[in-house]
Amino acid sequence: NTDADASADPHPEPDPNAEGDRPAIAAADLSHAFGDVDVLDGVSLSVASGEIVALVGPNGSGKSTLLRFLARVRAPDEGTVTVASTDAGGRARVGYLPQQPGFRAGFSAADALEFYAQFVDEDVNVAEVLERVGLADAADRRVGALSGGMTRLLGLGRALVGDPAVVVLDEPASGLDPGMVERLFDIVSALADAGVAVVLSSHNLGPVERTADRVVVLDGGRFVADDDPRAVVESVGAADLQTAFGDLV
Ligand code: ADP
Ligand code: MG
Repeated sequence: NTDADASADPHPEPDPNAEGDRPAIAAADLSHAFGDVDVLDGVSLSVASGEIVALVGPNGSGKSTLLRFLARVRAPDEGTVTVASTDAGGRARVGYLPQQPGFRAGFSAADALEFYAQFVDEDVNVAEVLERVGLADAADRRVGALSGGMTRLLGLGRALVGDPAVVVLDEPASGLDPGMVERLFDIVSALADAGVAVVLSSHNLGPVERTADRVVVLDGGRFVADDDPRAVVESVGAADLQTAFGDLV
């Protein structure tokens, strides 16, 4: 095929990285059961580039399960997850911070990110990633010697390796002291300002209200609210929302 042929093609291939109005990530009708427990019962979620969606709900409500499906680390019984942008190899690119990020304790922080960078089809500047998550000074420290909060920031850095267009963060602020929580949400805001679609779960009501564009409340396998933070506080009620945020508030 010459270029002239391609331009005359009446059925051109869609550009997988075209911007348009397509959501950065879309989950449609996800259902999943563990044994006879329906953890998700037909939930759908679309997130645009630059949007921050906070997923809240009591412990055991299925937040981590849904986030794993969005991150494509496992597949739901039913439903689809579609990611708009793909890497050079045609793979969907979703950065993921698991609720319990695991690292090899003997690696330095920089090596931990270098190790992960091997699996990404992009040039990765590990020093720059460490800088973004505030760990520049910890580059040479063993992961096993990092505090819980720093390990979580390193997990955030790992999710940012290769600059994915979609980032899924499972309780990124848990275990962080209040100052670190602020820093974490500042990083998340900066990501969204740069056009990244962010989905995160959190028990930190204050920072979520300030930072998220939308709050989605998960209960009994379904979304009981999906709106801007103020509207969700009004519709769910502050007291019930506090319950939804769980006992970690
Ligand atoms: P949350 O993150 O909101 O606390 P989870 O998604 O971790 O909720 O868990 C939702 C429900 O699914 C819980 O009842 C949990 O025990 C169950 N569950 C999660 N993962 C598994 C698994 N791999 N096998 C069996 N049950 C699971
Ligand atoms: Mg969880």
